[in-house]
Amino acid sequence: MAGNPRNGRPYRALCAWLRSQRLPCWLCGHNIDYNLDARHPLSFTLDHEQPLSRGGALLDKTNARAAHRRCNSSKGNRTTPPRQPKRPTLRW
Ligand SMILES: [Zn+2]
Repeated sequence: MAGNPRNGRPYRALCAWLRSQRLPCWLCGHNIDYNLDARHPLSFTLDHEQPLSRGGALLDKTNARAAHRRCNSSKGNRTTPPRQPKRPTLRW
């Protein structure tokens, strides 16, 4: 199988660019430990805000987000991150 764009140099450059920004996870909002091993569930991964399966651009910087590996894989193909609505229970 040839031509997986994730193995290409532009994609790796995009990963390096995103990694260098040391951003928190865009899904859960917590910091990412950029020193963790890539197989660690809380390590950095490049996520796409608009999933590739929905037409998102693989190499578009504006579509690239930093995410924990765990958060990224649990999100699947949803377009928006799962949010727990925190609603104060108001009882009068
Ligand atoms: Zn996260």
